[in-house]
Amino acid sequence: MNGTLIVAEHLLGELRDITRELVTAARELAGPVAMAVIDRDASRFDVNFRGVDEVFRVPADQEEFENDVYQAALEALIAERQPQAVLLGFTVNSMGYGPAVAAKLGLGFASDVHGLASEDGAVVATRSFYGGKVHAELEFSTGRPVLLLVRPAAFAPAEPGGSAASKDFSVEIPASRARHLAFEEVAAGDVDITTADFVLSIGRGIGQREEIPRFEQLADKLGAILAVSRPLVDAGWMPSARQVGQSGKTVSPRVYLALGISGAVQHLAGMKTSGTIIAVNTDPEAAIFNVAHYGAVADLFDVAEELEKLL
Ligand SMILES: Cc1cc2nc3c(=O)[nH]c(=O)nc-3n(C[C@H](O)[C@H](O)[C@H](O)COP(=O)(O)OP(=O)(O)OC[C@H]3O[C@@H](n4cnc5c(N)ncnc54)[C@H](O)[C@@H]3O)c2cc1C
Repeated sequence: MNGTLIVAEHLLGELRDITRELVTAARELAGPVAMAVIDRDASRFDVNFRGVDEVFRVPADQEEFENDVYQAALEALIAERQPQAVLLGFTVNSMGYGPAVAAKLGLGFASDVHGLASEDGAVVATRSFYGGKVHAELEFSTGRPVLLLVRPAAFAPAEPGGSAASKDFSVEIPASRARHLAFEEVAAGDVDITTADFVLSIGRGIGQREEIPRFEQLADKLGAILAVSRPLVDAGWMPSARQVGQSGKTVSPRVYLALGISGAVQHLAGMKTSGTIIAVNTDPEAAIFNVAHYGAVADLFDVAEELEKLL
């Protein structure tokens, strides 16, 4: 088998950061790195990053991602290239077609991978379980290709300036079951949490909907914007515009104060680059403390009361 194959992700004419991160991830594994770019004009993307050995330009009749097109192209590329590993982003796009290809071709598979190594020729992937409390190393025996979805921002982006050779690779693509027609802007929410300087974020620890006005007032007094973890949106207590995390918004305020949030990876994905993270949780083992700069093992209502008194 022949090195690692990665598939570039692009949106509205721009490469997404995960593309460069996949190159760095691939360098952890043995063998050459091949990058595939699927697009109407694949040459418009400069994917010649350091660490890429070969670029496959796959012509398609569309510019934006379509699940069936990527699936057909990846199957053909795997047949041609016979890679030991295929790396895709753990992104909305790849979550659709990546597992489908792995299942169809009988490949090894893991998602949300944030560490990679090559041991005695076998691919070893690290991923987390139980909301980030357990890190497991999955060893894939040699002899069978493995398809891994790599967590965004887990690897540094590769630098430009590579010297890979490019070649065209035509694939017979079946008629798509779903076509991309256009992007539509999501209706603006009541507030833009992504530009806030100070975010007060509340989680399921607040217990009940009736508590929300209290934290809205506290946020006002603090000069903060109120944000929430996903369960509060799922429960219909707050609009999705306020959700921080993988399936919500990414925020990077100067201060992120998290009350009653456990720190699941999907939540951390949306806030871990905040300047100063302060966490309050009654559980000393809560994963949020792994990323917090300051932490208090305390009842969030006691902390809220003290802040209300101070203000
Ligand atoms: C595909 C996918 C996408 C997802 N996307 C997101 C996302 O974008 N954003 C997101 O947030 N989640 C997301 N999730 C859900 C995520 O996995 C967690 O379930 C969620 O983040 C948990 O929210 P929480 O921390 O508020 O709740 P819990 O995990 O229930 O944690 C509540 C915390 O409050 C603490 N607590 C309880 N009472 C008190 C108290 N009185 N004082 C102090 N602490 C207290 C508890 O110790 C606990 O740690 C996603 C999941 C999946 C599968």
